[in-house]
Amino acid sequence: MAAETTYTAPSAGRLFFALWVPPACAGTLHAMAGAVVGRSGGRLMREDTLHLTLAFLGDIAERRLPALLEHAAGLSLPRVPVCLDRLGFWAQNHILFAGSSAPDPALGALADSLQESLKEAGFLAETRAFVPHVTMLRKLLHPGKLPALPAQAWEAEEFALVRSWRSDRGAAYETVARWPLQAALPPT
Ligand code: ATP
Ligand code: MG
Repeated sequence: MAAETTYTAPSAGRLFFALWVPPACAGTLHAMAGAVVGRSGGRLMREDTLHLTLAFLGDIAERRLPALLEHAAGLSLPRVPVCLDRLGFWAQNHILFAGSSAPDPALGALADSLQESLKEAGFLAETRAFVPHVTMLRKLLHPGKLPALPAQAWEAEEFALVRSWRSDRGAAYETVARWPLQAALPPT
């Protein structure tokens, strides 16, 4: 009997849309996470990998990538304020993250409209409730008392499509493409 062969279409990889954390904030978060690791253990995210996920796509077939890029390029999304002012710990996945005590609604609206458009275009099966957070540390079992995070605020001026994979240095990310977010029109 002939061996059964299955064909797996080439994958563009695990993709997600995100805001990269600006270098000054990434430096602060990384140093704080390093101090937590020193006391409580866990695996530190590299400073240059810190990001805020807006929409997670997962595995996308390589042949769909051009349409995805075209879709993203055609969006007109506004610049948004981001403010990270608290550290949090999710016991279910052992993650230490930086989040907002009062996220600006514009940030949630940006993630929602991006997700909605991706769903309409068939790139997302479903939209998900958006919880703005930047993962700083993984595999943390007992966080102890978390330090206070001095507020880190900036305006996001671009969004990126990012590819992720596992490397021997932990999660690795590569920007596939990035697009500007639109500045508000000056008042007339
Ligand atoms: P790894 O899973 O290899 O440890 P990672 O979680 O950083 O690393 P991905 O799982 O590819 O890498 O996730 C990329 C980004 O998307 C991360 O910010 C992650 O929190 C987010 N993400 C992953 N899965 C989902 C999901 N199902 N819904 C929403 N966001 C997700
Ligand atoms: Mg993951």
